[in-house]
Amino acid sequence: MEFDCKKYYSEYYNADIYGNFEGEDDGFYEVHHIDFNERNNRMENLILLPESLHKKVHSVTKTVRRDLDIRMIPFFNEPLVNRIEQIIKFREETLKWYYLKRYMGSHKSEEIKNISEIIKEYNIMCIVFYKPELRIFENDY
Ligand SMILES: [Zn+2]
Repeated sequence: MEFDCKKYYSEYYNADIYGNFEGEDDGFYEVHHIDFNERNNRMENLILLPESLHKKVHSVTKTVRRDLDIRMIPFFNEPLVNRIEQIIKFREETLKWYYLKRYMGSHKSEEIKNISEIIKEYNIMCIVFYKPELRIFENDY
C-alpha cells in the first residue's frame, strides 16, 4: 500500500489539513517531497503546500531541468533566466510554508487544530515577534 504522507503529516502535527486553502487560488493542501524523491517520507523531507503553489514548484523545476540540458550559456538563455526568476519568487512563497512547519513543530496542541486556525496564529506570531513579510495571508491584518 502506498504511504499516505498527508495522513502522516496531519497526525504528526495534530492538524486538520483536509480543508481548502483560503488564499488567492483556492485548492486543497498537498504534501511535497523537498528532494523530489517520493520514497523519502522522512518528516524533514515533507512540506505542506497549497495545491497551486505545489504545482508551480513542480512545473518550474521540470522546465529548468530541461533548459539546463540544452547547455546554452545561462546568461543568454532567456527562458532559463525567466525560470530562475520564477524559482526565486516561488522560493519566497515556499519559505513561508517552511516557517509555518517549524511553528507547527514547536506549537503542537493536544486537540486537533484546523490548518487555517494554525495559519492565523502563525501570522499573528510573525507580526508580534518575527518577520511580518513571512505571513501567509498578507491582507488579513
Ligand atoms: Zn511535490
